[in-house]
Amino acid sequence: MKEHILGLHHITAISDDAQRNYDFYTKVMGLRMVKKTVNFDDPGTYHFYFGNETGTPGAILTFFPWEGIGKGHNGTGMATEIGYSVPEGSLVFWTDRFNEHKISFAEQTERFGEILLPFTDPDGLNLSLIIPKGLDDRKPWETAEIKAAQATKGFHSVTLTIRHLDDTARILTDVFGYRQIAQEGKRYRFVTDAVPTASIVDIVLEENGHPGRNAAGTNHHVAFRVKDEATQMAFHEKLLSMGLRITSKINRDYFFSLYFREPGGVLFEIATDNPGFTVDEPLAELGSHLKLPKQHEGLRGEIEKKLPIIKK
Ligand code: ZN
Repeated sequence: MKEHILGLHHITAISDDAQRNYDFYTKVMGLRMVKKTVNFDDPGTYHFYFGNETGTPGAILTFFPWEGIGKGHNGTGMATEIGYSVPEGSLVFWTDRFNEHKISFAEQTERFGEILLPFTDPDGLNLSLIIPKGLDDRKPWETAEIKAAQATKGFHSVTLTIRHLDDTARILTDVFGYRQIAQEGKRYRFVTDAVPTASIVDIVLEENGHPGRNAAGTNHHVAFRVKDEATQMAFHEKLLSMGLRITSKINRDYFFSLYFREPGGVLFEIATDNPGFTVDEPLAELGSHLKLPKQHEGLRGEIEKKLPIIKK
């Protein structure tokens, strides 16, 4: 295919308590909330988007805070780890910060020649801070406590855990344009050259693994990035021709989406760059108002009553 997947667009995960999720990602991690909206398919639940100043694709982590859903656990057919790129020399800062905020983290380790610091969010979601080998010149969001020398720059990678390598690998290589560049044990690394960052997908093979429970502390889906709707439709045709079931185009207000389950069981989305998060709020005010899609605007009163109040 001549059309390209431009790495990761966003990753969506599930949390329990909305306030705790908001506090962790904006205060401890120092991300900007770029959109506060609802789950379009379940408007009684928030949909939070955390990213950098503008919510650049490749730097957007989103959550459905389903309060009371209970704790999930990872298994096969899921995205099981999110890697954030951080500047060289920043891991001491982050270790101190995680200690100070009683965040659970593991020893620094090395993977494919890169140093990483694994940690979990308050719901138990697996994340890691990774010092990339290559240049990452993305501009981070800064807060009073977290400056550019430490701040996350956006995604480094996502890890998928599956039982069989070949069919999932074929989607990444033959359809998405990734290539396998390395293997360490049961971890296989795929990269696309179409973009310099957020360009890595790792597959961890667990041949005898079991499905997890998709609830708080697990990922819901992984969205890959395309530049526009014409490119997106080319992927729609290609995936249909391979016999995969894929949704038609869905308007998510901030991007257009297609969803399909890759053969290993992970829910994939293909999302467009356009129109972006400033479509219904000025840049300076991103994330400060509850934004509803027009199909739910008529229910604003009821929705606002149902949603928990989030304190800044
Ligand atoms: Zn999504």
